[in-house]
This record gives sequence, C-alpha cells and structure tokens, in this order.
Amino acid sequence: MEYKISLIPGDGIGPEIVGEAKKILDKVCEKYGHTFNYEEVLLGGASIDACGVPLTQEAIDTAKSSDAVLMGSIGGDAKTSPWYKLEPSKRPEAGLLAIRKALNLFANLRPAYLYNELKGACPLKEEVIGDGFDMIIVRELTGGLYFGERKTVEENGVRKAIDTLTYDEKEIRRIAVKAFEIADKRKKKVTSVDKANVLDSSRLWRKVVEEVAADYPDITLEHMLVDNCAMQLVHNPGQFDVILTENMFGDILSDEASMVTGSIGMLSSASLNETKFGLYEPSHGSAPDIAGKGIANPIATILSAAMMLRFSLDLDKEADAVEAAVQQVLKEGYRTVDIMSEGMKQVGTKEMGDLIAERI
Ligand code: NAD
Repeated sequence: MEYKISLIPGDGIGPEIVGEAKKILDKVCEKYGHTFNYEEVLLGGASIDACGVPLTQEAIDTAKSSDAVLMGSIGGDAKTSPWYKLEPSKRPEAGLLAIRKALNLFANLRPAYLYNELKGACPLKEEVIGDGFDMIIVRELTGGLYFGERKTVEENGVRKAIDTLTYDEKEIRRIAVKAFEIADKRKKKVTSVDKANVLDSSRLWRKVVEEVAADYPDITLEHMLVDNCAMQLVHNPGQFDVILTENMFGDILSDEASMVTGSIGMLSSASLNETKFGLYEPSHGSAPDIAGKGIANPIATILSAAMMLRFSLDLDKEADAVEAAVQQVLKEGYRTVDIMSEGMKQVGTKEMGDLIAERI
C-alpha cells in the first residue's frame, strides 16, 4: 500500500526522535512491501525561525492532504529561548493548539502500558501491579469546560469567575464511537468515567454512551465516577482496558495513568478526527535540556508511529511488529539513560532506533 505521511520534527529533541521513528517506518515498508511518501512540515519554534509564525497555512494544507501526521515535539526553554519573548499567540505552543483545531482532532488517545522489564520504575507496590496493566485513555479534546464560555466579573466588590461546561449529544456520541471502536481491537471493555451523581453534562454523557454501547453487543460497558476512577488507577490499574472520558477528567486521569507507568520517554499518544486521520506524538515535551546530545529516548515516538499504523493506516500486523520489537529490545536489556537501571546496557537515541529496526 502507498501512504502520504506528514512528518513534524519540531524543536529540541524532536528531530532526533522523529528521525528514529522514520527509520522504523522505513523498515516496515521494506519488510511488508509498503511505500510511505513523507513530507516535512514546520511547526512551533522551527516554523517561527523559518517563517516568523508558529504555524503557516501551507503547513496546515500539507498536513490535511496526508493520511496521517507524525510529530516529535515543539517548544523550547521558556527562560532562555527568544520564542518566549513573543506574545503568547505567536509562541511555539500556539502553533500546536492551532494545528489541532485546524485538523479537528477531537479524540485524544493515551495508552498507559507497564512493561514487565520496567516494573522497577512503577511507583506502585508489587501486589498492586500484579500482572501489570495495559490501558488506553480516550479523552474528548475539543469540548467541555476548557472550551465553554468563561468570564470574571465583580459583584458588589466581590470578584467572581465563571466557567461553563457544555456537551451536546453529537460531541459525546462521536467520542464514544471512537472508544468502542478501539475497545473492539483490544480487550473489549469500556469504562466510561463521569460525575453523573452531580453534573447534568455527565448524566447526558451516560445516556448517550449507553445508546452507542447498544451497537457494540460484544463490548462490556461499565460506568465509573471520576473520583473513584482516580483511586482505582492506583489501587487496581489492571482492571482497565479503554477509559472513555470528557476533556477535563481526561486531562487529569491521563497524567495520573502515565505516572504509574513510571517512564515518560515510553508514552505515545494520538489525536484523531472523525475519519481515520490522526496526529501522533509522544506524550513528553521537547526536552531542551538534552537536545542535541544523542541521548533522548525515541521509544515514545516509535510507539506513536505504531499507533499511526494501527489507527490511521489499518496496518495492525505491522503495528504489532513494531511493538514486539520494542518489547524485545527491552527484554534484551537495552536502555536509554532515562530508563537505565543497574545491570542494563545503556545506548543512545540512534542505537536504540537501530536495535528496534533490526528486530522488525
Ligand atoms: P519535557 O517532557 O520536555 O521534559 C521533562 C523531563 O523529561 C526533562 O528532564 C527531559 O529531559 C525528560 N525527557 C522528556 N522526554 C524525554 C525523552 N524522550 N528521553 C529522555 N528524557 C526525556 O517537559 P518540559 O521540560 O516541561 O517542557 C519542555 C518543552 O516542551 C516546553 O517548551 C514545553 O512547552 C514543550 N512541550 C511540548 C509538548 C508537545 O509538543 N506536545 C508537550 C509537553 C511540553
């Protein structure tokens, strides 16, 4: 098959880790007989330096015309980088928000997977970890409290701030459908997280999720209140497969779930629109403190590329092969510095990429 992929190296360690992910994709092409045509897109600081703005229309058009976008990370050191002397709307992060909006990416997917080999980095007790965990958080990304009307007023000399949380049934339905489709490719369980004992938006959320569930009889649906879910993530993380939730709850729970894996350099993510199109990126930032040193862990970006193969290109077998290669390299004891532990073999960014590519 032939696909067009936009690559956004971005800033800091971005070009280094995207380079390694491309190496893996090239190996997938060679092994499985596909052709990926790449087009590089400027975003963030790299775009400010080249074009004076963090995102150009040309960049949006290129991304839109591709089958999927693979990104490194954008941004610099806020204290030293000249990008942060610009007004907020012209800084690197504004480019990222703008491209997500332009591409209508309403579904954010963040897997939290505990590798047996990295159990030592997990802050949970052995008896809580049990056989490990493998979950994915599906978070609504363009609605809810972060996008509702907000204002700060003063009434009788008292300052008052108002934020509004709105969801309509269409917004809920489209994210719920994504969650059920993903669960269908996994362990077939959806945990829908809300605050239906208090919020009207959550009560509507529950109703619509149940309507969607009726179309997926093979998938088990359970509802969980968000406060309970926050506890269950550190009490019994193995119970989860797909967690479906709204924007703010997802923001908080996905960070909590990432932390319990213990290794930020390993965590991938995806943001999808209504079609199969998506933007794939590691969960971490551009790590300006280690940029150019050749020590960044490329695995989060490589696993993001695997998600791209699975969710945007429907290449499940190829995605499995990339994930298995990562697991194999860890099993053989290779580690970048961020996940290094005693008795393991320390390697740099390029070497880690080579080792994974060789095992595909
Ligand atoms: P960060 O994730 O870049 O770094 C936090 C710490 O983790 C640093 O010590 C870094 O060296 C380390 N780290 C991160 N990724 C690593 C990797 N792959 N391998 C080894 N070590 C790794 O977070 P930060 O320092 O808060 O932010 C730095 C910049 O990244 C800021 O400009 C921020 O705005 C930007 N950022 C961008 C995105 C994005 O592009 N989606 C996300 C988060 C932060």
